[in-house]
Amino acid sequence: MGCVSRAAVIMGLMLAWGGVARAGVQKVASDTGWRAGAARAVLTPTQGQFLSGYGSRRPAAGKRHDVWAKALALQARGGRPAVLVTTDLVGVSKGTYDRIADAAQKRFGLSRAELMLTYSHNHCAPVTTECLPDYYPLNNAEWREVGEYTAGMETRIVRLIGEALGKLAPARLSAGEGLATFAVNRRNNREAEVPERRAKGETLAGPVDHSVPVLSVRDPEDRLLAVAFGYACHPTTLSDDQWCGDYPGYAQIELEKTHPGATALFWTGCGGDQNPLPRRTVALCRTYGNQLAAAVEAVVQSGMRPVRPDLRTSFEFVKLEFERRPTREELQRDTSSPNSVRARWARRVLPMVDGGHSFPAHCDYGVQVWRLGEDLRWIALGGEAVVDYAIRFRREYGPHTWIGGYAHDMVGYVPSRRVWREGGYEAEFIYEYGWLAYRWTEDTEDRIAAAVGRLMKRVR
Ligand SMILES: [Zn+2]
Repeated sequence: MGCVSRAAVIMGLMLAWGGVARAGVQKVASDTGWRAGAARAVLTPTQGQFLSGYGSRRPAAGKRHDVWAKALALQARGGRPAVLVTTDLVGVSKGTYDRIADAAQKRFGLSRAELMLTYSHNHCAPVTTECLPDYYPLNNAEWREVGEYTAGMETRIVRLIGEALGKLAPARLSAGEGLATFAVNRRNNREAEVPERRAKGETLAGPVDHSVPVLSVRDPEDRLLAVAFGYACHPTTLSDDQWCGDYPGYAQIELEKTHPGATALFWTGCGGDQNPLPRRTVALCRTYGNQLAAAVEAVVQSGMRPVRPDLRTSFEFVKLEFERRPTREELQRDTSSPNSVRARWARRVLPMVDGGHSFPAHCDYGVQVWRLGEDLRWIALGGEAVVDYAIRFRREYGPHTWIGGYAHDMVGYVPSRRVWREGGYEAEFIYEYGWLAYRWTEDTEDRIAAAVGRLMKRVR
């Protein structure tokens, strides 16, 4: 190779890295081909706003620890960057997701495929605009406060994405999977019986996903820069009046304590039907957080698989259809339902139905697939997908497939065909998320699986 062509190669490399002449970029010997950058922002409200997740009135009285948004930007040699955003929020509306995605596109050139926006579904987080719109008994002034908070939160997340991209620097990526066992299938086990059955060493009923996927990011000096990890379980250990991140909050704090300077990012798996049981004490919440952190730490310490510098991203909105519209008689009946959320929903939508309001005819459901290196496939599904999706996709796409739920916008529970047929809370309460419907169609799982199949082909 002559001097000119070598110079051209070096120039090409520099362009591929974004053209920034940093000292680290030229360390080709230790160059893994990855660049990464992490950033974080506090999302804890400064005022005594309302806590989310439960259908009761819960103004916050203080904080146990902060509620965070964190971002991890990744870029493989010669490729485009992508950003994972994790938040300790209960969910975000389609409006919030669209505004953040649009701003990320305009300001940083990120497509939807390149932005993985997630929320842990933490129930000790603030209420946000249009997410579970009939869940909370708030008055107009209180909703205005929520709107102001939400607008500020969206701005902070967009800024955070820019900060993570601005910090892109040479890094080494590794992946592995651990195990934590506190998630319990809440459809198949009575909450009150779980402690005794656990004490007796009995196997609890129902499918679970106890895997703990871990992505570690190290700088060229081998310091841990970031660790992103997932777990399929509702963050609903606590239900009191203090801001915190529930068990994922404790897990992130513990990992950041063990690795000063590192950013820990948590995303929730397909835990729509999974609860941390038993629950409702701070001690249990901390214990689950520590268990999860220990599972992550064990993976980090036990030799992870290096991830080759290759990052491919894909995304599509697939149509989810409603089984049927409620009749006017059903809505009228529901206005006096003993279920306060159902009653609030019916009282809100009935006049809209009578006034000829045009409700969405279907749901645009976000499905995303990233591929990192040769065999790490990372699926991110919208809303509260039940555990069957994780089990199915791991079986279909291999053990190194990570399946996240609680991504994009909070569309509601997403039952598998099995759960749809069984019925119950995760199958027939989508009106709680504002839809004019009680449930999706029976083929919901087929639609999502077909979309995942198409996206898998695109990242191959
Ligand atoms: Zn939930």
